[in-house]
Amino acid sequence: MTTSPLFYQAGPAMPEVSHGHGVFLWDTDGKEYLDGCSGAISCNLGHGREDLRDAMLAQLDRVAFTYRTQFENAPAVALAEALVEMTEGALEKVFFVSSGSEAVESALKLARQYFVARGEARRRHFVSLRPSYHGSTLGALGVTGYQPLEAPFADITAGSLKVPGPDFYRQRDGDRDAHVRRVLEETREKIEAAGGETVIAIVLEPVGGASTGARLVDQAYLEGLRALCDEFGCLLIFDEVLCGIGRTGTWFAYQQWGVTPDLLITAKGLGAGYYPVGALLAREAIVETVMAGGGFQHGHTYAGNPLACATGLAAIEAIRREGLLENVRARGEQLRHGLEALQARHDWIGDVRGLGLLWGVELVMDPVAKTPFPAEANLFARVTALAKEEGLLIYPRRTLNGLCGDHFLVSPPFTINEHEVEQLLERLARALDRLDREVAPLLDD
Ligand code: PMP
Repeated sequence: MTTSPLFYQAGPAMPEVSHGHGVFLWDTDGKEYLDGCSGAISCNLGHGREDLRDAMLAQLDRVAFTYRTQFENAPAVALAEALVEMTEGALEKVFFVSSGSEAVESALKLARQYFVARGEARRRHFVSLRPSYHGSTLGALGVTGYQPLEAPFADITAGSLKVPGPDFYRQRDGDRDAHVRRVLEETREKIEAAGGETVIAIVLEPVGGASTGARLVDQAYLEGLRALCDEFGCLLIFDEVLCGIGRTGTWFAYQQWGVTPDLLITAKGLGAGYYPVGALLAREAIVETVMAGGGFQHGHTYAGNPLACATGLAAIEAIRREGLLENVRARGEQLRHGLEALQARHDWIGDVRGLGLLWGVELVMDPVAKTPFPAEANLFARVTALAKEEGLLIYPRRTLNGLCGDHFLVSPPFTINEHEVEQLLERLARALDRLDREVAPLLDD
């Protein structure tokens, strides 16, 4: 019998949180944890911030909730304007939701309605990558390429056409360009086999998160996808739920490659962990077509409520006021150096990849063959447990059938300072030294 009525996932007993401040959390036994993954890559500004509390309280004093079809509310308009400005006006329209999965659902439905409104109802396929993660609701799961999560639902989700994305760590095509060309060719073949006129959109994370451990795309790949979308008349959707809102050092990750999507999804860091808020951004012409065709048949009760939007606005203002995008880039470089130094110490750290303050560390049995550890070794869980014992939170994922080894994300709050990055690296180094002793017998086999 468990003592708690909550059920999430099977796992070790968890400490009870007491409070948080800055990049640190404390449990009720007084143990300190450095939040090296911003919760679920969501508490991007750290814990216990007075400015966010004040903004939320000020909004609560006015009104917490109004329904989006009954009142316009100033924080929602201001947050939408801020988001449009963050895309430099490339995407002009905003639809609020309360989570990443809801934002993905909204994007899929808006894209479908756009083509229905244009008399192209034959378009019914989405194209997405394997591996990828786009959320836990059935629509979002349909475009997710993460076998353990998909498996129980494969018969009841509207599955997408899954194609490989670029994998610059494991590719065997020679140089990067040849690899990108091959991956794009496979994508084209999949689209042509289904019929280009049946595709609604290509959906991807510009920087992978939970499924790929911060795997990156590149300029040529995104340009190739954009060209495919334009050729087949379908839409390009970027899922920046995890990598958006400054995580990679620019407001949105795609801005580092200059390829603009038709729809953009974001959530997690938008409310900075203080209140759930997500958003779908869209090109105006798409929204106008849907509106002219009878309106967007979609919406969630809590979408765009004043408290959510006041929180999001305060978070964006804090990033601007404190110059945190610059700090993300500077501390990101420091973190990269530190993680690469740890990689040099342990042969079984196969890859360190990322951007800004979003870093993935992949563990492999053989650094040359890049063979993952056996799934039963559960290294993702071991490394996380050891880090936690050393007072560090990291975000783990299990190995994926030859596609990716056990890995974890290091993604601290944007407010982390130089000394705290050193502390993070020291705690991680201690955890990895302890893991070294545990993996030794596996490597001897
Ligand atoms: N898309 C991506 C890229 C994500 O990383 C996540 C969450 N990890 C989601 C969608 C789903 O977001 P949520 O958990 O808020 O529903």
